Amino acid sequence: MERKKLVIIGSGPAGYTAAIYAARAELSPLLFEGFLSGLKGGQLMTTTEVENYPGFPKGVLGPDLMISFRDQAERFGTQFLEEDVVSIDLSKSPFLIEGSSTKVLADAVILATGATAKRIEIPGAGDQEFWQKGVSACAVCDGAAPIFRNKPLFVIGGGDSAVEEALFLTRYASKVFVVHRRDELRASKIMADRLLAHPKVEMIWNSEVVEVQGTQFVEHVVTSCLTDGKKTRWEAGGLFFAIGHRPNTSFLKNQLSLDATGYIQVIPGTSKTSVEGVFAAGDVQDPHYRQAITAAGSGCMAALDAEKFLASKGN
Ligand code: NAP
Repeated sequence: MERKKLVIIGSGPAGYTAAIYAARAELSPLLFEGFLSGLKGGQLMTTTEVENYPGFPKGVLGPDLMISFRDQAERFGTQFLEEDVVSIDLSKSPFLIEGSSTKVLADAVILATGATAKRIEIPGAGDQEFWQKGVSACAVCDGAAPIFRNKPLFVIGGGDSAVEEALFLTRYASKVFVVHRRDELRASKIMADRLLAHPKVEMIWNSEVVEVQGTQFVEHVVTSCLTDGKKTRWEAGGLFFAIGHRPNTSFLKNQLSLDATGYIQVIPGTSKTSVEGVFAAGDVQDPHYRQAITAAGSGCMAALDAEKFLASKGN
């Protein structure tokens, strides 16, 4: 079995940045990019214009940014595997990492598997119901599909994701309704103002979606007002969850310290996890900032921490 100095798991801004630094440090990193588990390139692959990544005064498309990250990592000799990691043994060093078809030993590991959009269990929105038949957790991935065109579309959530998704959907929808459980948005003021000023957007405050109805595809959603219990049935072409994310840590099977919601715990100010030689970067260890730039920064930290660790072991 091949033994690598450093294996990086995950291919968003954190994983690719870690690879750029590690490859330049001649650690010959192997990077598992994922396959079925999620999108190669991470969440930015499902974003359109990124306006807040420094260095791009006119903005940059998320997928273009990620392709550039990957090209840069490749230029310095990163080896890529388009595979999911199915199991990992962190109980002894070297660590054993098993991909869908490749097994490898690693002296150090960087975990950068990111986070996945959350869903809510609503009658009609389940896998065997209207999930992917009008119900989605990614407007940017799915919103341009013909089934959503010129229809009223519903977004659940009140954070920046909900605002971003709702504004994106205004391009295709006849109208976008944002259903939020409170009476104020959590989103940043600039985003919230943009949403509230949009002529195609209507807020449904203090409400939740309680049912999705249709025949082949979504045709109606039912909302319930949390203050008076009043139910309203709306014509709808689609429903999009935009209620935050869950860290992708289930494959770790609690082999290192996670917080109560499953995020990897790192020693503050470092990328070091509870297992020596295992480092974490990006959204998988960050329930708070979750930005491409902070993920990239933490990927850099993880590579530098891994390099120092490997040097201390004579690698
Ligand atoms: P978030 O800030 O955690 O917001 C999640 C929203 O969903 C909240 O409004 C929350 O309601 C609502 N929610 C959660 N669970 C719910 C449930 N079970 N039923 C109904 N509503 C539910 O998540 P996010 O919007 O994904 O943003 C995460 C981070 O990424 C933030 O730091 C954000 O600033 C950042 N982000 C930035 C951008 C950008 O700058 N372009 C874009 C996207 C995300 P409550 O408000 O009542 O809690």
